[in-house]
Amino acid sequence: PQLANQIAAGEVVERPASVIKELVENSLDAGATRVDIEIEKGGSKLIKIHDNGSGIPKEELSLALSRHATSKLSSLDDLDAILSFGFRGEALASISSVSRLTLTSRTAEQSEAWQAYAEGSDMAVKVIPAAHPVGSTVEAVDLFFNTPARRRFLKSDKTEFTHIDEWLKRIALVSRDIHFTLKNNGKVVRNFRPAKTSDQYLQRLAQVSGKKFALQALAVECEHEGLKLSGYIQSPYFEGSASDTQYFYVNGRLVRDRLVNHAVRQAFAEHVTGAQASYVLMLELDPHQVDVNVHPAKHEVRFHQSRYVHDYIFQALQSALSQVGK
Ligand code: ADP
Ligand code: MG
Repeated sequence: PQLANQIAAGEVVERPASVIKELVENSLDAGATRVDIEIEKGGSKLIKIHDNGSGIPKEELSLALSRHATSKLSSLDDLDAILSFGFRGEALASISSVSRLTLTSRTAEQSEAWQAYAEGSDMAVKVIPAAHPVGSTVEAVDLFFNTPARRRFLKSDKTEFTHIDEWLKRIALVSRDIHFTLKNNGKVVRNFRPAKTSDQYLQRLAQVSGKKFALQALAVECEHEGLKLSGYIQSPYFEGSASDTQYFYVNGRLVRDRLVNHAVRQAFAEHVTGAQASYVLMLELDPHQVDVNVHPAKHEVRFHQSRYVHDYIFQALQSALSQVGK
């Protein structure tokens, strides 16, 4: 299983940021409201994710480290309408095959915690007693220590950190109720407190995109026949240099999509000149109306009624932009 897992790891685990993405998505799937991320040396020395989610029962711990151990697919229909992030059931096994990984967890029903790790050439899973509050901690040490070719592929610590930080910003903007922290080489560098009110959300936005954008941002809130668009966009009267913030989420996933880009750019074109305007927008629609897994890595999506979605986005932004200053 070691080799099969390492091959699978090539798909799931490209760099520290992709490890963190998989682990944090697991935390969110487990209902965590707080996720603390710790890294050392750009994640190549240490990646540690601590959450206060449901935890994993002792008897499922070793299973969680084996391939296709997902607990998240109950029917084929789920594939059409994936609301939870993870569905492949191989992230933990893959990461475990290319690092020294420990998984420590406690459920609310258990009075004690347990720790699982894979060992030896057959990657046999050991489970030992541990101390841990309700929730889980995954620690991945020495990423790619046993796959030197991949290890050499890693960029500088600073570059890997930037990838991680960029990813965290993206998820922090959409998972607004979750408290995220990021510690880099022993120092807390991000602290996104839960954003329950719009003022608190604007503070989060300021952390991501700068105070200037957050202070002048224009709120968008629009709902029409099953489509809902909300978020913040750059005001036509924005003063200062653009913050290079372009985030568009479809049902909670960040997308980079030509159709969406076109609609957004067209709306801004009549109001904002020069550099591309900034925005953080969330589109919500019936999951059956969109395929999100066309090219997961490329963040592309396919809308079943693409013309309709395009025009809806355009008109919603267009009317928000033309209302200011009136
Ligand atoms: P997937 O997320 O695709 O199901 P993973 O390999 O990422 O597969 O995780 C395997 C299983 O381990 C999950 O289905 C889940 O049951 C459990 N698990 C992993 N991480 C956590 C976590 N932080 N909290 C609770 N359960 C977890
Ligand atoms: Mg997962």
